[in-house]
Amino acid sequence: DIPVITIDGPAASGKGTIAARVARSLGFHYLDSGALYRLATFAALKHGISLDDAAALAAQAANLDPVFDGEKILFEGEDVSTAIRSEAVSSATSQVAAIPEVREALFNLQRRFARAPGLVADGRDMGTVIFPKAELKVFLTATARVRAERRYKQLVERGEAADLDALTRDLEARDKRDRERETAPLRAAIDAYILDTSEMDIESVEKKVLEWWQS
Ligand code: C5P
Repeated sequence: DIPVITIDGPAASGKGTIAARVARSLGFHYLDSGALYRLATFAALKHGISLDDAAALAAQAANLDPVFDGEKILFEGEDVSTAIRSEAVSSATSQVAAIPEVREALFNLQRRFARAPGLVADGRDMGTVIFPKAELKVFLTATARVRAERRYKQLVERGEAADLDALTRDLEARDKRDRERETAPLRAAIDAYILDTSEMDIESVEKKVLEWWQS
């Protein structure tokens, strides 16, 4: 069996950064499952598929053929790494991700990332649905305010416009949709370690996860 570490949690909980760092430390592959949902949504918007058309969205998700090139994600020959992270795509993604047929369509694609020597997977349902037998499951949390502040800092550093109150509201709306949907809602697996990172820096969170992995 391929060793798998799952890192789930709400938006901007730091799971992407932590998962990528843990993967690098261990020499494991890394799956950013949110990027797949984002890409499916981006592709639908690009191709004029209605966000209400579950069958068309699922058919398109099933045929997604993303190319991961280091930190970059290429789609139809275009670097879409930044485009899929816009606020508009973020918000539409949590609607598309609530559609059971879309989740089903992305199931096998996600499972295929588990290759030797191992995988670190981040998302919402990595520990509950996609890799229920993972050796280590982590669930990261932080208050909505702290998460919005982290996102705000990122945007400001990139020279983009940002509004802390609007970011907090958007994060809360997205989390609510992710938690309350019927299929694969955002929640910790019963066997997950839960870590509140509100008062922690990235290095201490990474250290904690590696300690759990080694124990
Ligand atoms: O993790 P990230 O913020 O990039 O995910 C974007 C959106 O994709 C989430 O708000 C959620 O609706 C959806 N998602 C999901 N299941 C995953 C990963 C992401 O539903 N495993």
